[in-house]
Amino acid sequence: MKKIIIYPGSFDPVTYGHLDIIERGLKICEQLIVAVSSNPLKRTLFSIEERVILLKEVTKKMKNVQVEKFDGLLVDFLKRKEARIVIRGLRAVSDFEYEFQMVLANRRLNESMETIFMMPSESYFYLSSSLIKELVALGADISGYAPKFVENELKRKIPYAQS
Ligand code: ADP
Repeated sequence: MKKIIIYPGSFDPVTYGHLDIIERGLKICEQLIVAVSSNPLKRTLFSIEERVILLKEVTKKMKNVQVEKFDGLLVDFLKRKEARIVIRGLRAVSDFEYEFQMVLANRRLNESMETIFMMPSESYFYLSSSLIKELVALGADISGYAPKFVENELKRKIPYAQS
């Protein structure tokens, strides 16, 4: 059986930080599925379909990467994919508390699921989707933070209010 890893998240939108984690994940599996969450409680700038399109575009040259959307519980998605391993990125301290909670909650739902945490390159330690949305709204350059395709789509969504 192929060693499959699931990388779940909102990806609103995908950044170089996410891509860094995908590349690292690919080193330890045969197939990586980016699972784009359609959590109705989270307000996102991009719709689930748009987030999937962005991810597909920026990973199209990567072998063994698949992008799929999912709703409901992550443990159920894993079951459907016959997968047990999840990867998550770990940035500076901010992620730790939340990730700890998620691991414990998921473990209660499915004992056999394991989560691997990977640290991005130092340049992406403080990078988040929220940050690039703010930067675009302020008219700042985000070329070091996300691929051009994503930057263009962001600029279309967020009109830069020039004073
Ligand atoms: P979620 O809402 O599920 O946290 P995100 O899209 O914000 O979704 O993040 C998905 C995953 O990618 C999380 O594990 C998050 O920690 C990780 N991640 C986001 N940005 C970075 C980054 N700059 N470096 C490393 N990991 C990151």
